[in-house]
Amino acid sequence: MSDTDLAERFAREIAAEGPMPLVRFMAGANAHYYATRDPLGAEGDFVTAPEISQMFGELIGLWLADLWTRAGSPQNAHYVELGPGRGTLAEDALRAMRAVRFEPPIDLVETSPVLRRMQAERLPTGLWHDDFDEVPKGGPLLIVANEFFDALPVRQLCRDENGWRELSVGYGDEGFAPVMSGPDLTALVPPALRDAEPGSVIETSAATTAVAGALASRLAEHGGAALVIDYGYEGPALGDTLQAVSRHAYADIFAAPGTRDLTAHVDFGELARIGREAGLQVHGPVEQGMWLESMGLGARTAALAKAAPHCREELIAARDRLTNPTEMGRLFKVLAFTSQSWPDPAAF
Ligand code: SAH
Repeated sequence: MSDTDLAERFAREIAAEGPMPLVRFMAGANAHYYATRDPLGAEGDFVTAPEISQMFGELIGLWLADLWTRAGSPQNAHYVELGPGRGTLAEDALRAMRAVRFEPPIDLVETSPVLRRMQAERLPTGLWHDDFDEVPKGGPLLIVANEFFDALPVRQLCRDENGWRELSVGYGDEGFAPVMSGPDLTALVPPALRDAEPGSVIETSAATTAVAGALASRLAEHGGAALVIDYGYEGPALGDTLQAVSRHAYADIFAAPGTRDLTAHVDFGELARIGREAGLQVHGPVEQGMWLESMGLGARTAALAKAAPHCREELIAARDRLTNPTEMGRLFKVLAFTSQSWPDPAAF
């Protein structure tokens, strides 16, 4: 399906059925977007931490290897990654893990055929799944998700003079545009936030709750850990965080669906709640900059710069981009789950 086919399908559906809830618009647009292109890198729409420096994936690999070793090196553990992009993080992490002779089977949860092909070049022994629930049951899992949850669709509830209504997408002469529609949904808003000012917005992501719930209950049953890294906040909280990014710049959220990356900030408060409810230990969230520094990013930068002096400037710039509070250091957060029988992880 082409980009214009998707826009036409959405327009027809809105003409027939009325405004489309944002959550459906975002789900359909992102499924098309990821299925039809590689969005990453200088030539694409956005750059992620593993694409900035190999050090990012390596430190995640060290974190996993350390935890696995202290858990008694269970031989049936699997490496699982959600939304692995180009496979760069996994490749760097697994290389670091091999240093302690940890070479787990690889399970990748990825819906995009384009990205699956790129991942297969780097991770030829991987197994691919459309859904986390398809990851084989049995041994403990070491799960990584970097910039995965932000791509899952959100619902937005907006306060007006009378109550809370859902944000939907209409279609008219000016193209796609946001409209408030449907019944009063005040009952869905946490009581402490119900009396917010008119114009306030609250976001919820049923998809995030479902995926996080599935992995949390798996960890509780079979052991292991999960590391979630993303931009986000600790909710419940008010805020409209929906954004569209195209060619490294913010773009119109509603225009040209399926051609730009639609994301929302991740509610780490909700993730933590899900982990605790499943009986897991929850660590963080902490800021990405602090986490990477406590994992030894400074020492790793120095070691690589010593081995390759011509890359020194580039390595220092990468460290700064990943950790500086005005870059990715503060907005990005790191949260871990560990099962009760596993040791406490490093760097929290
Ligand atoms: N983790 C990578 C890529 C982040 S982009 C990195 O840090 O570079 C988001 C990734 O999640 C892409 O691989 C995308 O195809 C995948 N993805 C998005 N929605 C998904 C879904 N519903 N199920 C599985 N994968 C999804």
